[in-house]
Amino acid sequence: MNDFLSTPIEFLKGVGPAKAELLKKELQIFSFVDLLFHFPYRHIDRSKIYKINELNADLPYVQLKGVITSFKLVGEKRKQRLVATLADDTGQMELVWFQGIKWVMEALVQQKTYLVFGKPTAFNQTFNIVHPTLDNVDDAANKMYLNIMPLYSVTEKMKARSLDSKALMKLINTLLTDARLNIEENLPDTILSDYKFINRKEALLHIHFPANAQKLVQSQQRLKFEELFFLQLRLLRYKLKRTQVVNGIKFQSIGNYFNTFYNQYLPFELTDAQKRVLREIRSDLKAGVQMNRLLQGDVGSGKTVVALMCCLMAIDNGYQACLMAPTEILAQQHFAGITDLLKNLNINVKLLTGSTSAKERKQILEGIALGNINLLIGTHALIEDKVVFNNLGLAIVDEQHRFGVEQRARLWKKNQKPPHILVMTATPIPRTLAMTLYGDLDNSIINELPKGRKPIKTIHKFDNNRLAVYGFLKSEIAKGRQVYVVYPLIEESEKLSYKNLIDGYNAMLDEFPMPQYQVSMVHGKMKPAEKDFEMNRFVKGQTQIMVATTVIEVGVNVPNASVMVIESAEKFGLSQLHQLRGRVGRGAEQSYCILLTDVKLTNDAKQRIKTMCDTNDGFKIAEVDLQLRGPGEMEGTAQSGSFNLKIANIYQDATLMEQARNAAMHILTTDATLSLPVHKALANFFNQYQKHAKWGSIS
Ligand code: ADP
Ligand code: MG
Repeated sequence: MNDFLSTPIEFLKGVGPAKAELLKKELQIFSFVDLLFHFPYRHIDRSKIYKINELNADLPYVQLKGVITSFKLVGEKRKQRLVATLADDTGQMELVWFQGIKWVMEALVQQKTYLVFGKPTAFNQTFNIVHPTLDNVDDAANKMYLNIMPLYSVTEKMKARSLDSKALMKLINTLLTDARLNIEENLPDTILSDYKFINRKEALLHIHFPANAQKLVQSQQRLKFEELFFLQLRLLRYKLKRTQVVNGIKFQSIGNYFNTFYNQYLPFELTDAQKRVLREIRSDLKAGVQMNRLLQGDVGSGKTVVALMCCLMAIDNGYQACLMAPTEILAQQHFAGITDLLKNLNINVKLLTGSTSAKERKQILEGIALGNINLLIGTHALIEDKVVFNNLGLAIVDEQHRFGVEQRARLWKKNQKPPHILVMTATPIPRTLAMTLYGDLDNSIINELPKGRKPIKTIHKFDNNRLAVYGFLKSEIAKGRQVYVVYPLIEESEKLSYKNLIDGYNAMLDEFPMPQYQVSMVHGKMKPAEKDFEMNRFVKGQTQIMVATTVIEVGVNVPNASVMVIESAEKFGLSQLHQLRGRVGRGAEQSYCILLTDVKLTNDAKQRIKTMCDTNDGFKIAEVDLQLRGPGEMEGTAQSGSFNLKIANIYQDATLMEQARNAAMHILTTDATLSLPVHKALANFFNQYQKHAKWGSIS
């Protein structure tokens, strides 16, 4: 970065210490470059001046030109408002202020002509504008935005000290017109010409003050691309380095454990998709390069057994393996399921979680260090520094949406030569997101469910049909099935969630009395030991009904459970509903998911419920989820915010993301170290960028 752009913000003409303080605190603008990259959140066309008789309520923001003929205070003290009458040659209308009245009144001049800007609303057969912006027509400073005006986000605090959007606009104008400003191109010519991008300097000018609508779009495209390009360059560089520099452990052969398991103890035939994925993984493991692979597979697609068979490949080659799960319950389930599958093979499997006793932990740590333990299953406890492996060859992370580069790097350090890494997720990730969150990983997909599974039937019922639902549960239980009843976690109040759950539990006890029925309950506030006890009773079939919060959401596997009742289903997000539904339909029986909701539903909630009733396909559901919730809120993607993208949007700019990834890949295949003269500017910029980028934020 050149020196001028890194000048502290207080040195900009018109800023001074007080405003500098505000800019730093409120917008994290510390230097000139930060200000330059504080892009407008939208622009408005001020080239058009509306007439009062042209207004209609559908118009967004409009600009009018007219005379303030009068103004007065209306209403009692606390509810006082200022009402001004604006007139042009076609009619008159009202302008209204509820706040800052005193200040506005002092500034208003009767019979003076103003440019008025704001959103018209229909009111008493005419229109008014609440809190309009007024500009003096003669003010020369206004001329610069008479065409297309940028709007900048500012905070209330800034507004209160008259550092509003317009003030920011002036500061940015000062910066952009400074003769010392020198903006160098950071993309190679080939990219500019291939994709027809405008140059960097032009883009930065027109993103703030576009000469016309087309220039604005061109600037946005160019700057979005730039942002995505450097992100992809970073991810791909990382991947490339890893495959070239990092020497992977070579699993020479498929051995005895794997073959014995496959031929004698595998309880079912693998699906074609499972076989394909195993082949993909196998080819990584023998290549002498460290594997870093993402395995996506819908709920119930059988990822666990694939994971287990990968562990056997490691153990066959004399290495240890570990499997890490996000929750204690899930870790336990894996442990129970896997020890059972391996019971006839002489493999030492241990479980390590937060609630492992000190004594056992000590033994496990010793066994791990000595290499007596072949397979370690557990929670995050596995990556603690105290856990030192003898020779870890493979680390698998299950159901983990938030496992970024940095955590993976921690796993790497668990062995002298970094172990192979497999990250598994059941939440299908839209392609662009996968390219980013896991942009440095290879990708495998299990796109098929085991044969003989009957698709889960999903039914929507209103609360007031509860009795009919209970009747249905009784008939299923009579057939020997088990049932989940799940309550939402209410974010605003943990107490309230808990109360809902307990009320629900009591209602179930009344409806399903002992000794004919047994009801378990699991929730987040329970001690791990209690949780396990209850969970195990359900797993063993000693209880027929499991009342729970979403703690059972991930991974839990009880094939005999065939009904999932979701209470207040309208309060859940789509991917969560899909995850919950995935707890049933795991055996051969017809399974059901019953969504209970309030009678009143928002449109979004209706859409979610409908989607659930219409499809079982996790990838389709992820797409709808994306549309409904938009970028920031999708489950597992909150972290996408931390890529610190200022202008590009991972979802909306999917095409640009693909282009950016291709362009970055192309450059790296011709010049992996970015040392060619044509890449000099790019390399300089990239080095700066790397320094500022925090790997930790990608998770
Ligand atoms: P997920 O991919 O959601 O983690 P699991 O690995 O828990 O799914 O598998 C779900 C259920 O399907 C388990 O009971 C498992 O034993 C069973 N399963 C896995 N693969 C097959 C298969 N090829 N044929 C039949 N059942 C299978
Ligand atoms: Mg699973």
